[in-house]
Amino acid sequence: MNGYKQHAGPDGLHVFNRTTGINILFNEIRFKKENWNISPKNVSIALTDKCDLKCHFCYAPKSSSELDFEVLKSWILELDANGCLGVGFGGGEPLLYNHFDELIEFVSNHTRLATTITTHGHLFSDDRIDKLTGKINFARFSMDGVGETYEKIRMRKFNNLIKVLEDVSGKIKFGINYVVNRETVNDLDDAYKIALELGAEEFLLLPEIETSRNSGFREKEKDLLKAWVAEKGNEKIRMAISLNSSEGFPVCGISENEIDGSHFYLHIDSKGFLKRASFVSLGVEIAGEGIIKSINRLRENY
Ligand code: SF4
Repeated sequence: MNGYKQHAGPDGLHVFNRTTGINILFNEIRFKKENWNISPKNVSIALTDKCDLKCHFCYAPKSSSELDFEVLKSWILELDANGCLGVGFGGGEPLLYNHFDELIEFVSNHTRLATTITTHGHLFSDDRIDKLTGKINFARFSMDGVGETYEKIRMRKFNNLIKVLEDVSGKIKFGINYVVNRETVNDLDDAYKIALELGAEEFLLLPEIETSRNSGFREKEKDLLKAWVAEKGNEKIRMAISLNSSEGFPVCGISENEIDGSHFYLHIDSKGFLKRASFVSLGVEIAGEGIIKSINRLRENY
């Protein structure tokens, strides 16, 4: 099937086409474990730690690390050849990666992977939108609260973000990433309404991760969020929540046959370590052995 990719894993055969967005899971087709693809379906990649914002809840390391472009390209080709369906580029701020434009071109021209990016949006311009249109499959923009709430956290004008989303709308499919915490939980209604009006296709809830500097998402906010999700659940935008915070929410989880989540998703940080998620500290250094051998080593050790 031209343009279609296949991933054989614990939940069956997943067929995907990045151009049409068609996703079909044949869960009646079962494979022996030794025949599963080694790559997970999705890999997120922190291209760089660099970011020009200073959000207080950020858990990205504050350093100037970034991935070597030639090495990164070799990992992407390996992933593509071993059943990966999509890569998601983040950071830090991915648009600050030195080879960002070349990378997007490379994935578009040399692989059949779907590409998503996660960005704060303030480095978008008309030229940037033109370069990304038709090359990436989805963009996730951070919008934590609206108006003053947003500006207090991000130290950037909320209206500037809205202008970018207006310019992107109709050209690049996009969604909103919303960190939920004590400051932002009461702005959910307004943010959701704006997302609907601007044509967002996804509203991803990211309950704040606890760090040494932040208390994270607390029970009170969790109760408010559950009530809000119950009220909005049937509306037009696809609603999603980060996997680590999904307990107690009405989600379609990953397959019950999935052993540990690593056939669904893994993360590469900006120092070249492979991990089970961006916010965990343990992982394996990919170094010269390549990504596929590193995936096996991660599964054996962590
Ligand atoms: S924009 Fe993202 S990477 Fe940058 S400081 Fe905020 S949360 Fe961290």
